[in-house]
Amino acid sequence: MTTEIGEANGTNAALATASIDGAALRHDFPIFRNAVVGGRPLTFLDSAASSQKPQTVIDALRTYYETSNANIHRGVYHLSEIATAQYEEARKRIARFINAASPRECVFVRGTTEGLNLVASSWGRANLKPGDLIVYTEMEHHSNIIPWQLIAEQTGARIAWVPMTPDGFLDREAFSRLMAQGPKILALTHVGNALGTVNPVKELIAEAHAAGAVAVLDGAQSVPHMPIDVRDLDCDFLAFSAHKMLGPMGSGVLYGKKALLDAMPPYQGGGSMIRKVELTHTTWADVPAKFEAGTPSVGDAIALTKAIDYLEALGMNAVWAHERELGAYAVERLREVPDLTIYGPTEMDHRSGVISFGLGDIHPHDVATLLDEQNIAVRAGHHCAQPVMRALDVMATTRASFYLYNDRDDVDRLVGGLHHAIRTMNGGGLWNGAEIRAVPQSEAVEAGQ
Ligand code: PMP
Repeated sequence: MTTEIGEANGTNAALATASIDGAALRHDFPIFRNAVVGGRPLTFLDSAASSQKPQTVIDALRTYYETSNANIHRGVYHLSEIATAQYEEARKRIARFINAASPRECVFVRGTTEGLNLVASSWGRANLKPGDLIVYTEMEHHSNIIPWQLIAEQTGARIAWVPMTPDGFLDREAFSRLMAQGPKILALTHVGNALGTVNPVKELIAEAHAAGAVAVLDGAQSVPHMPIDVRDLDCDFLAFSAHKMLGPMGSGVLYGKKALLDAMPPYQGGGSMIRKVELTHTTWADVPAKFEAGTPSVGDAIALTKAIDYLEALGMNAVWAHERELGAYAVERLREVPDLTIYGPTEMDHRSGVISFGLGDIHPHDVATLLDEQNIAVRAGHHCAQPVMRALDVMATTRASFYLYNDRDDVDRLVGGLHHAIRTMNGGGLWNGAEIRAVPQSEAVEAGQ
């Protein structure tokens, strides 16, 4: 690793000024060597969907399968004991990363989606009655809406949502009005995936608790990017995805306060989650095993620890500072592009390195396709947040999202690519395959003509 090494867990605020050299970090990620197309380097601006993986994570997966692969918890032989120890060590590592009171509060799941479904289904079945109120927000990813709709249908609970203001914030007064109705649950995203809005979750959770609600936090877009302390936030549940934080695909974690997890019924039935099975009934294992039915993704959990090592070596404050610096630069540069509308908050105090925009009447899919021809990867569509699109009155947006391996050159290439997209779509002739150069800020006015 080539950048300054920060303090573990990035809790030292002084690290906020530590500089991360995104271009240097790219050497740690093989994809940037391999995904060069027609001589063009990969400009990867879709980390909000899934991050790239450093060599250490890839090696950890390989090492696991080559040296300690065995099913866990059930084997009495040496290999199984090693795999079990590594898996449980991974749980401890994750608990430390988010400052959970105990590793038992961390359940391995397939990702944020499964974590949220687990809470809605298991906590919901045990606690929701007809007429109870579930509150989520208009800013949620579908995975923090649909599980609540499903459980509301099953239990007769009611649903209400906090609307978004036109500039992409949660309507704070509407939030308080809903809390005054005494909801049973608040399901809230920490950072919105479509607009990058950073919600004041500590304050909102405190208000939810004062109203008697359980607070479920979607951390998919926050845990990979900023220091998270679940005890300080006081969230009751937090779901996040390993694959968005340098870890393996299809894996993630659900944090839950132990007393709540203890009181919840299992989510799925099967091996590993039982204490005793009779033909008529079963008793459950303690948490977290109660929620980990079947064979888990052992190698993925172990490899996630290498992702956490990587993040902690940089320091989470430094990662967050880097992304916000890039976000601020991107907002400034994108403003130079004619007819470009940035959605959501424009002040970096309230947003992450996720930037959604529209480009005149060019469809976001066309924008993304023209950028892709230059090996610039962005997302186009509704970002699994159709209510957000409806609130913006658009069908889709183009979204660029930054992570630790990005730098200002990536932003410059994006801006250069957008100028080309405009020229191509506005009768500038068919795309001729000419390479889009990174347009430095000094040449931007000329490029914009
Ligand atoms: N919530 C948010 C805010 C997200 O950004 C995502 C991923 N786009 C999810 C939930 C779902 O994550 P996963 O697909 O890893 O389950």
